[in-house]
Amino acid sequence: MAKTIAFVNQKGGVGKTTSCVNLAACLQEAGAKVLVCDFDPQGNATSGFGVDKGAVFPTIYDVLISGAAVEHAIVHTKYSDVLPANKGLAGASVEMIPLDRREYRLKDALAQVEASYDFILIDCPPSLELLTLNCLCAADTVLVPVQCEYYALEGLSDLLSTVRIVKGRLNPAIALEGLLTMYDGRTNLSLQVAEEVKRHFPGKVFATVIPRNVRLSEAPSHGKPVTAYDSSSRGAVAYRRLAEELLEKNPLPRRA
Ligand code: ATP
Ligand code: MG
Repeated sequence: MAKTIAFVNQKGGVGKTTSCVNLAACLQEAGAKVLVCDFDPQGNATSGFGVDKGAVFPTIYDVLISGAAVEHAIVHTKYSDVLPANKGLAGASVEMIPLDRREYRLKDALAQVEASYDFILIDCPPSLELLTLNCLCAADTVLVPVQCEYYALEGLSDLLSTVRIVKGRLNPAIALEGLLTMYDGRTNLSLQVAEEVKRHFPGKVFATVIPRNVRLSEAPSHGKPVTAYDSSSRGAVAYRRLAEELLEKNPLPRRA
């Protein structure tokens, strides 16, 4: 069964999509079977793998609302399988309200394919509403990317209390991990944010930190993860190391 990791932070622009796309590519490079589920109406993870988010059909929206089969919606790219999203997904947060098991629509959908993957990575929108609640209910682990800047910790307590409520009522097994992004070890600020984050996630912060690296910001415009765009860049090296760290804790099954 796949380990499902949701990239969550209601703060925008902290590196959720960048981490989701690049970690997926590095896990696949290391031999894992990986599905990225784009669950953000911005569709950035979809386009980050070179999939045309304007033209793609069916998407995760059709899976959630019209009962399309997940296998039909999955796009196979060179870097990872992708369950695409686009702006149509925005409507789902309202359309799901009257539906049965509205918090579990994503979990129920992913259950159709989870036996085929080692990892399912979910890219979440920058909000804490019903779409994100679905991500939290579908996830084994919530991975919170924290940008190493002054306002990084603002809103973190709201996120942590939402996760606590979800753990108490909807998904008791959920675990929480922190990832430092856009880290600059030369600045005191990055060091201070790192210390603070370690206080919020005791023992649960990845040792690997993601540096600020321009290659990471250029790669999506080429529809590629950074490993395919500039394989030896600092960004590519960091996400490979992150994949190794994750695989040490979650070894792949032996396959013939
Ligand atoms: P949103 O909340 O809008 O979905 P996000 O949390 O998914 O945003 P990203 O889209 O991954 O954040 O990153 C925000 C911007 O910062 C993007 O332009 C991305 O290319 C850039 N970026 C992310 N990580 C890094 C990094 N380590 N170094 C340099 N640029 C980065
Ligand atoms: Mg994003």
